[in-house]
Amino acid sequence: MIQVRNVSKDIRVRLEESLGVLYSSVSVVTNVSLDIPQQVVLSLVGFPGCGNYTLAKMIARQVRPDSGYITFEGQKIDQIDCESWSRIARSFHPSVNRRSWGSGDELKSELTKIVEANPRIVVCSDTISAHDQETVFRLITEAHITSNSAFLVPTDSLDLAMRYAEITAVMWMGTILELGRSSKVERYPLSPFTKAMSTVEHYSADSNDRSSWERALAQCVANAAHFKVKGCRYHPVCPFAKLICIEKEPVLSQVEDEHWVSCHI
Ligand code: SF4
Repeated sequence: MIQVRNVSKDIRVRLEESLGVLYSSVSVVTNVSLDIPQQVVLSLVGFPGCGNYTLAKMIARQVRPDSGYITFEGQKIDQIDCESWSRIARSFHPSVNRRSWGSGDELKSELTKIVEANPRIVVCSDTISAHDQETVFRLITEAHITSNSAFLVPTDSLDLAMRYAEITAVMWMGTILELGRSSKVERYPLSPFTKAMSTVEHYSADSNDRSSWERALAQCVANAAHFKVKGCRYHPVCPFAKLICIEKEPVLSQVEDEHWVSCHI
């Protein structure tokens, strides 16, 4: 239904160096391709700065890619008029104007309204705390049972993706390292990063008041040096890295039905 093809997005960042302030371009999403089928819950999993929210925003047409393109049923989404697009895609903003969610009733009612409009895809493009992510996933799963929509949900929790999403894309520094039906990714994780994530949930949310989007971008800046990594972007921290991992970037390759990995080993 939605095809993402070779999409990239750079941002300009301000770096304070000993000789003064420098501006540099950081690749937030790099050459990502992804298919989103109809009526699925697809989760983009990764740590802040991995590009999952930027990718979701590009699919929701909130951010324009620098290169590559995204299509809906064969038509480039930037060529679809605004009225038609508003019937095709809706954004769900769980964090807007909320300090406390209570039982989640307000959120449920907002999601119900979105689903009643019968969009083809609902994109959750707000960063939300680890605690609240479970509420969002639970409500989306309930809404999904009676709707014809696909749902795109970025998260930093592999555990939640495994429990609530049918398809999981594991992202690291702007690229997809593993993609597949969640049950397969959970039973047979192939990327060393997915394996590491499945044993330890590294990231815990903080109570910082800054918007999560800003925090994700700040993390990109912190990772700027890594974004210049050649070869596999995971190689600086991968315990299985070999010479080829430094020299050549792996491509996302199918290893079994509904399961892809980007890794040389
Ligand atoms: S390609 Fe190499 S560095 Fe990258 S995840 Fe695989 S083994 Fe690790």
